[in-house]
Amino acid sequence: MTKTVLPALPHPDSTLSIWHRTTRSFPHLHANRLIPVPESTKYLIIGSGISGALTAWKLVESGVKGEDILIIEAREAVSGASGRNAGHIRPDAFRGFPDYAAFHGPDQARKVLENERDVLESVRNFVKEHNINSDFNYMRTFEVALTEEFVALFAKAMEDFKAAGGDTSHIKFYEGEDAKRETRVPNALCAYESPAASNHPGKLVQWILNDFISKGGRLWTHCPATRIIRAEDSTASLRWNVSTSRGIVAAETVVHCTNAYASYLLPELTKFIAPRRSQVNSFVPPLSLSGEYTLKHTMALRYKADHFFSVNALTNGMILLGGTGTRNNSDMTSEDLASLDDSKYSDRIAQNSTREFLSLCPEFEAKPLRHGEGLDHAWTGIIGMTADRVPLIGPIEGLEGQWICAGFNGHGMAGIFTCAPGLVKLMSGLSWQDTGLPECFQFSTERIDRFKRRAAKSTL
Ligand SMILES: Cc1cc2nc3c(=O)[nH]c(=O)nc-3n(C[C@H](O)[C@H](O)[C@H](O)COP(=O)(O)OP(=O)(O)OC[C@H]3O[C@@H](n4cnc5c(N)ncnc54)[C@H](O)[C@@H]3O)c2cc1C
Repeated sequence: MTKTVLPALPHPDSTLSIWHRTTRSFPHLHANRLIPVPESTKYLIIGSGISGALTAWKLVESGVKGEDILIIEAREAVSGASGRNAGHIRPDAFRGFPDYAAFHGPDQARKVLENERDVLESVRNFVKEHNINSDFNYMRTFEVALTEEFVALFAKAMEDFKAAGGDTSHIKFYEGEDAKRETRVPNALCAYESPAASNHPGKLVQWILNDFISKGGRLWTHCPATRIIRAEDSTASLRWNVSTSRGIVAAETVVHCTNAYASYLLPELTKFIAPRRSQVNSFVPPLSLSGEYTLKHTMALRYKADHFFSVNALTNGMILLGGTGTRNNSDMTSEDLASLDDSKYSDRIAQNSTREFLSLCPEFEAKPLRHGEGLDHAWTGIIGMTADRVPLIGPIEGLEGQWICAGFNGHGMAGIFTCAPGLVKLMSGLSWQDTGLPECFQFSTERIDRFKRRAAKSTL
């Protein structure tokens, strides 16, 4: 059984991802690191990942003055999952439909998948409109079945998704030799193709933060929020006092963009958002996957329900392998999974990924890798798994003036670009319907209690 992890602040000595290693000169990386926090702010956003950065940026776009917004970040800028993911914006085309339907019914499940498709287009348009250099690369992705079990699971998911009115016009199906040829995976049994993108998440979020700061916005890094209490004067507009490692800041509005760490400041979420460590390994390809043979699509290679590899191909030819299986995979221990410690990585998982990477290189048996080819780097990050597999968006009941955009289930790059703008619409007084988001994303105490109870029953 997976152990419960007690809420904690982000680990101070986290690993550096390849995204971090290639953006060390970002001028706001350590913004205001030694300066006490301002005494007050209208809007306080906690967390500088894509949720926090985009919420701040969208608030400014909606007419809020940059000077009225303060982002505080426990570590350096973009040091959470947004800076350490697999760089994949990969809408779930149909595969997750049965899971979402089991939690939320077929109608909501269809909306969850439609939302991911919208996100891909939103990021694509955003990057283009602002001419952002984040190595965004729109390309094909494949769901690849490597076992008969998965051939059947895919077929059923597709059938259920269609029956719920899901649009599958953007999905292509291949089997047998066609699947092997299209995916370049010799043991592929079948494959489903749909659009996705690879993207340097560090560069994208740094661009957003930089633009926010250039419009007067404020960012305090290395400044964890440790406690939030109500102002003594209940009529005060600055209703929340937020303690940080560098003083107390009074705020009218507090937005929790803390994803896997949300329950540290909101203990009622402890059994609803569970942190899970995940690892990504980067590889420098040899001859068979470089030059004219460079992989030009991304994939998920599926063995068992909880044993898969995500394969992302970057514009510079490097390949990232994430996934590597979860609870049922014997290569993983509960320490590997249920952890808030991103200061370590697992050598076992790196070796497992290396084996998988080599299986993609047909000439490997004939020719050993040269120094500099093969495993390049491994890092970890913490994902925030919710008890019902979808994020928590909206006002926090009982804590008037506090809002949340968190719980992205390891899929935030395919979710946040509609969720954060949706949250800003709600904050400006618009209705849930105006956000266009699936209703099941909405924060409610009833939802949290219901799914906490359900999760507790299933672990008995
Ligand atoms: C290894 C890995 C691979 C992934 N791969 C993919 C992928 O390929 N595609 C995809 O769609 N998604 C992927 N994800 C998930 C995706 O990265 C996340 O869903 C997304 O980045 C979440 O963004 P966020 O802004 O909500 O959270 P984060 O980026 O985690 O930001 C939260 C921030 O809050 C800060 N913080 C927390 N508590 C406090 C506090 N008390 N005070 C101040 N600051 C605080 C943290 O330091 C952090 O910077 C991956 C995640 C991981 C870890």
